[in-house]
Amino acid sequence: MPPVPRVRFAPSPTGYLHIGGARTALMNFLQARRQGGTFILRMEDTDQKRSTPESVQAILDALNWLDIDWDEGPGKEGPHAPYFQTQRLHTYREHADRLLAEGHAYRCYCTREELGEQRTAAKAEEGGFKYPGTCRELKGPPPGKRAEDAVIRFKMPSGEGTASFDDKALGTISKPYSDLDDWVMLRADGIPLYNFGCVIDDHLMDITLVARGQEHVNSTFPQLMLYKALGWQPPDFAHLPLILAPDRKKLSKRLHPEADVMRHKADGILPEALLNYIIRLGWSHGNDEVISRQQMLEWFDFTGVGSTSGIWDKTKLLWLNQQWMKLLPEATIVERLLPFLEAKGVQAKGDARLEPLVRALRERSNTLEEMAATAANVYFRSGITLDEKAAAKHLTGDSLKVLRQAREALAALPDWTVEVLDGVVKTVSEAASVGMGKVAQPIRVAVTGNTTSPGIGETLLLVGRDEALRRIDAALARG
Ligand code: GLU
Repeated sequence: MPPVPRVRFAPSPTGYLHIGGARTALMNFLQARRQGGTFILRMEDTDQKRSTPESVQAILDALNWLDIDWDEGPGKEGPHAPYFQTQRLHTYREHADRLLAEGHAYRCYCTREELGEQRTAAKAEEGGFKYPGTCRELKGPPPGKRAEDAVIRFKMPSGEGTASFDDKALGTISKPYSDLDDWVMLRADGIPLYNFGCVIDDHLMDITLVARGQEHVNSTFPQLMLYKALGWQPPDFAHLPLILAPDRKKLSKRLHPEADVMRHKADGILPEALLNYIIRLGWSHGNDEVISRQQMLEWFDFTGVGSTSGIWDKTKLLWLNQQWMKLLPEATIVERLLPFLEAKGVQAKGDARLEPLVRALRERSNTLEEMAATAANVYFRSGITLDEKAAAKHLTGDSLKVLRQAREALAALPDWTVEVLDGVVKTVSEAASVGMGKVAQPIRVAVTGNTTSPGIGETLLLVGRDEALRRIDAALARG
């Protein structure tokens, strides 16, 4: 039986949660939840210039919004605490000392300037810069240098040979040793570099499977060498396809606003839709498009993860969002809609019209933002802004005559219900010998300001009797 998975998501808190990171987190989360495993959140906060508490919070907020919860990590703690790398520095130091003592690592005294020069010279040659092993055989610090100022480098195997591993998503991947160089594990100030901190923590946190973005494939080789040197069994690896922008460039934080998970929240995308969208960008289950969290939990497996990059497709995301607007219970949409209404100055909490409004508008709203805009502009204000083109077409001449008749019939109704209101359109159209559209459209434009809205009875009811009649009067006054 395979071991119960212990998986992790290990973001560097240097900005918001990237959409690719969210998908990595989701896949790990699903893997853990499906098999009764544990999902660990580890903050790789070793870039002291760029890591900030705000970024940590931004990542936690985004994961919370997506309802991807972790079992061990910030706020939860657990048997392998702490889960921030900067709080684990003594652990890295201990392991670096062990590797030094066992001859798998050495102190490097080369200065930044020296390496910079070598790097510049190497640029001219093919293959790029590889550390030439200048300090590899040193027995002690060169004159004028101190051991405590040196960085610690890992001694990669030299000579012939190939490193390879079986990736759960990509198959077998290999690299000749000659492509690898002695990499820095620990800086003089005790801060580990990514490959080192990652391996030490993955091992000590008993990680069984490392699933991360494809950009880390190459890091896996030096990491595997380190496992070997320490005599540790490496975990399994699965490298997940990238998410590219429509122009096929890497979806970058700087150039592509859609890379930011929380941007989608602000745009009125539902978390259910975003999860559905990102899981499909790199994993499939037959031809299924609309996939619920429950289904993901039943179906997700790394064998369904492809190797080709997913291309960001906003239209598809909006389509999925619309599906989820229709699938979720009305009360849920109401709750999610309220902050969007509030942002538009509408305090609608507790308003009995909210559920019918959601019912009426969700067929034609791609996002909560869109729904809130319509709700605020049409249903939660007095008066309306007429679309002049619509008014020119539907609120002139004969149309106004019909509208006047409709106004009288509507005002005479003792009770307003959808059926009765729709019935008025019919009777007025018969009396005036015009098609029903010739009655409904002038009413619609007068009451909503434009030519699209839910059914006319529903619209009138949602706008409310007094307000609807007032708007019709205002339209009639144009004639
Ligand atoms: N801190 C790394 C990153 O955010 C983690 C990579 C890994 O999962 O090993 O890219």
